[in-house]
Amino acid sequence: MQRIAIIGAGVSGLTAANILKDRYAVTVYEKAANPGGLIRCERIDGSLFHTCGGHVFNTKNQDVAEWFWSHFNQESDFRKADRNSVVQLEHTLVPYPIENHVYMLDAETQRCFISDCLAIAVGTQAEPTDFEAFLRGRFGDTLYDLYFKPYNEKVWRCDLKQVSLAWLEGKLPMPTVPEMLYNNFNHVEERQFVHSSFWYERQDGSQFIADTLAKSLNIRYNADITSLAFAGGKWHIGGEEYDRVIWCGNIKDMPSCLRGVSLDAYAADIAALPYHGTTTVFCEIDANPYSWIYLPSDRYACHRIICTGNFAPSNNATTVPEGRITATIEFTDAISQADILTNLQRMPFHPTYFTHRFHPYTYPIQTASTRQMISSLKQELAKSNLYFTGRFADWEYYNMDVAMAAAMTLCKNL
Ligand SMILES: Cc1cc2nc3c(=O)[nH]c(=O)nc-3n(C[C@H](O)[C@H](O)[C@H](O)COP(=O)(O)OP(=O)(O)OC[C@H]3O[C@@H](n4cnc5c(N)ncnc54)[C@H](O)[C@@H]3O)c2cc1C
Repeated sequence: MQRIAIIGAGVSGLTAANILKDRYAVTVYEKAANPGGLIRCERIDGSLFHTCGGHVFNTKNQDVAEWFWSHFNQESDFRKADRNSVVQLEHTLVPYPIENHVYMLDAETQRCFISDCLAIAVGTQAEPTDFEAFLRGRFGDTLYDLYFKPYNEKVWRCDLKQVSLAWLEGKLPMPTVPEMLYNNFNHVEERQFVHSSFWYERQDGSQFIADTLAKSLNIRYNADITSLAFAGGKWHIGGEEYDRVIWCGNIKDMPSCLRGVSLDAYAADIAALPYHGTTTVFCEIDANPYSWIYLPSDRYACHRIICTGNFAPSNNATTVPEGRITATIEFTDAISQADILTNLQRMPFHPTYFTHRFHPYTYPIQTASTRQMISSLKQELAKSNLYFTGRFADWEYYNMDVAMAAAMTLCKNL
């Protein structure tokens, strides 16, 4: 049986290892002490803390759905929820997405939105080449200034003119003007986005997915792979020899890690790949019926509250008082604890700070040439039986299910 090493026990590595484990002798190397990568959770005084975001699962990909549900019991392991999300404007909570609910805003905003819709409908705008032009062209200046600009500037931390459209491809179903008007007349809820309804684990949040997928695998934890050497047609890790390697870590670590193959032609492009990190703050907030709350206001630097305490009763320890739930709050990039605390004081829902974690790599940013560069590097390394897949290996804005789909495709073609 051929031997395969998989680097990384996040969603991508766990998916690949499970698919390949009957055909190959698979060893997974994971630098942390447990599986999960970005989907890791911890218990803090009994309550569940998603150390990054607040992961929920769904997919529109039939192959992923079949594969995923063959590993879990939908009824006993998961609960199904309809997303109930809102945008917090100055004094109003407007259901998400805001373009379906403009009827809830003041008369002047509604008039401006209608004029925008007419302008978009008869307009002859050039094809947008940046994110600002795209949002203005789709939703009009009024909603852009009120919500899309302030919210997205907090998430991306830059002028939206600098954000390339490459990452958007195939991501969001975009409403037409007739759809936006119809949805406002009829108060229609959005049901096309992948997470407009979702599955959530009854116990232990997304850590349950990682722990379950890791169960029957040969995983070496606390194994930070800093050297992968190709010699004599084999890959060498420590004293062990492998026929193939699947890299599910960060592409930025590859040039310093790989020996016996040259990445010189790619090193500068890889080093220049832009990205953002996320600070996730675990806290207690006022009880509410929401899944997550978008925060465009510039009064505080965070952009979203994820009401993880609403996802499963087991997420709130018995010590969480009546009228309160646990939640995570997201800030783009690093922020000090002192700044977190002053931000929380200005926020709605009266958050009380418990703890926070910073993940330096959470949002890969693609430029116009990223996909071409990655695809060329894949072809090059495949010649030496090194393959890669994953959010920060492929530098793609993958959700869990899309990361699973990418790993499945790689394994099929191996
Ligand atoms: C804030 C946020 C919220 C999100 N919310 C959702 C959501 O609600 N639903 C959804 O479907 N998706 C969501 N996602 C996306 C989801 O997190 C990713 O698609 C998925 O976790 C990617 O898994 P991965 O295995 O590709 O990468 P990672 O999770 O980054 O895993 C990589 C693993 O490799 C290990 N590793 C790296 N280098 C080495 C090395 N040299 N040696 C050994 N081990 C190594 C790391 O420790 C890590 O465990 C969210 C993402 C973010 C950032």
